[in-house]
Amino acid sequence: MTQLNESLKYFSEHTDDFLRQYQELVRIPSVSTDPEHKADIRAACEFLAAKLRSLGAQHVEIFPTNIHPILFAEIHAEKEGAPTVLIYGHYDVQPVNPIEEWHTPPFEARIDGDYMTARGASDMKGQVMASLAAVESVLAAGPLPVNLKFLYEGEEEIGSPSLESFISTHKELLACDVILNPDSGMLSKDQPTIVYGLRGLLYFEIRVDGPKADLHSGIFGGVVANPANVLADIIARLHNPDGSVAVPGFYDRVLPLTPAEKQRIASVQVEPETLLKLTGSPELYGEAGYTPLERTGARPTLDVNGLYSGFIGEGSKTIIPAYAKAKISCRLVPEQNPDELFELIQAYITSLTPSAVRLTIFKHSGGSAYLADDAPGIEQLAKALGDTWNKPLSYKREGGSVPVTATMLKHLGVKSLLTGFGLPDDRIHSPNEHQHLPTWKLGVQALIRFLLNFDNVH
Ligand SMILES: [Zn+2]
Repeated sequence: MTQLNESLKYFSEHTDDFLRQYQELVRIPSVSTDPEHKADIRAACEFLAAKLRSLGAQHVEIFPTNIHPILFAEIHAEKEGAPTVLIYGHYDVQPVNPIEEWHTPPFEARIDGDYMTARGASDMKGQVMASLAAVESVLAAGPLPVNLKFLYEGEEEIGSPSLESFISTHKELLACDVILNPDSGMLSKDQPTIVYGLRGLLYFEIRVDGPKADLHSGIFGGVVANPANVLADIIARLHNPDGSVAVPGFYDRVLPLTPAEKQRIASVQVEPETLLKLTGSPELYGEAGYTPLERTGARPTLDVNGLYSGFIGEGSKTIIPAYAKAKISCRLVPEQNPDELFELIQAYITSLTPSAVRLTIFKHSGGSAYLADDAPGIEQLAKALGDTWNKPLSYKREGGSVPVTATMLKHLGVKSLLTGFGLPDDRIHSPNEHQHLPTWKLGVQALIRFLLNFDNVH
């Protein structure tokens, strides 16, 4: 029997064990944004370290950072001169709120039919465990055809504040030929997908301060500016009536879509009805002159993510709030620079702000967009996905951001292979996140093939 067949057999015979380990990891509530979960984050990191040690990793090390630790591990190939594949992952998850909308407890990891439901089941503990199951299956059936390095962080969902400095100061340790980043997903369960483009992200916060405390609106209404009114007015002026962003210079660096690019984007079939069903919105909305996939994949956006001001409890209370706050993020496309855009936005918002209030704007995080249809290892991955699903591959420009890909390219000089086995209706970041398990199992098989595909080229 070939190593491929033996590896696949090992996986099918041990699928239940792998699913149990996957549940064990998912049950650790490693919410990175909540300081109360600091010990859980550590536990998730240590769970993976133990798993890597059990796979025979020669070097497993947990590096502390200012917030949550980074895990590095290395498993050597037997053969001299084998290529090195770095597998990236994150073991932290998004918060679970609103908790009352979950049908099962978010960290129970209940398996019901084809689905495992839990925060992190899809994004991305399922993908982390799929990679580790593939590595174990390959090792059980013969020698490893590649050197493997693993880089797992616990801060992805809060913008990876420690990752860049870690990568830039550990270039030797992380040196590799290929980077696999399975933090992306598939277009549908019949469309294995390689993401070759991602939008960047700029996240910032605005605060408008007026009176020193909330005021009685009967006594003071009409004599001071209301920060909530002012903030609403600022936000209203961030877009034009046609849905485009009104910040001067926002589109200056955006490259026009070529006909070839438009064609490639159109090759991915997503019906408007599917988007309506996925979102539950009464109608699609967005920048005029572009298709929905062009808007999510190749056009920048600006969106309010959170708004806060004044009295938001039950009933009524007549006040002029002391302040108003908004959290806003922009999805960026290649050539747009998050730092430069932040300055443009800051200048524009400042120009809109009356002197009757005080304005503060600060940046949370920023990352550039990314384009990689030529990442090393793409042939091995494409063949592995094709042989597993026996369906044509989809190459996709995605609306989300994976800033780590740009960071790795900058410091390690290697473009990442972005793939993954989550589906668009997995509800990542929302209540009732789940992973479609038949797709997860095919994903493990594809990753087994991916690793073994390097055997023929070296
Ligand atoms: Zn993720």
